[in-house]
Amino acid sequence: MESGTRRGAVVLRVGHFAIEIRRSWAVLLTAYLIGGCVTALAGGHTEVGGRDGIVVAALAFAVLAFAAALFHEVGHALAGAAFGRRAVGLVLKAGAAVRIEEAAPGSRGATAWAESLVALSGPLASALIGLAYYNVSSAVTSPFAWAALLAFVDGLVNLVPVVANSDGNRVLLALTRSRPRLVD
Ligand SMILES: [Zn+2]
Repeated sequence: MESGTRRGAVVLRVGHFAIEIRRSWAVLLTAYLIGGCVTALAGGHTEVGGRDGIVVAALAFAVLAFAAALFHEVGHALAGAAFGRRAVGLVLKAGAAVRIEEAAPGSRGATAWAESLVALSGPLASALIGLAYYNVSSAVTSPFAWAALLAFVDGLVNLVPVVANSDGNRVLLALTRSRPRLVD
């Protein structure tokens, strides 16, 4: 692994894979922690410390929410790999995004159908991890259940074609033959 900076972002390289950490990632982590505190309070956690306190619940929510965001990107990456397109990087910003190689011209990955499947695999992964979280949650007010809800909402919002840079929008672009490389 080597590291460097690019336009203010920290870049870690592991082989051909580059992890780009932008400053705006702090916004995402802060949002997760605030969401964790709010859901902890909504879930009836009133103590600050202790195993059942707000801090532990908020941290658990933040870790689960970030893991779900990564799993969404893994969905895109696996679908890309199925079409011979390697994942070459991960961008952590006020959200997460995976960089996937362009499909070779004329290959089976270079079709609107393949591009649409790669885009839709993110929301599918979100739905799957949401179900998994919900299954292991002990109560509907646990960090697992809240993170499940967030994953479902993330998957659904990403399917709306008119949301800029959403996966649904990417399907729309694929069908109109445009080829964006950064999959949010
Ligand atoms: Zn996505």
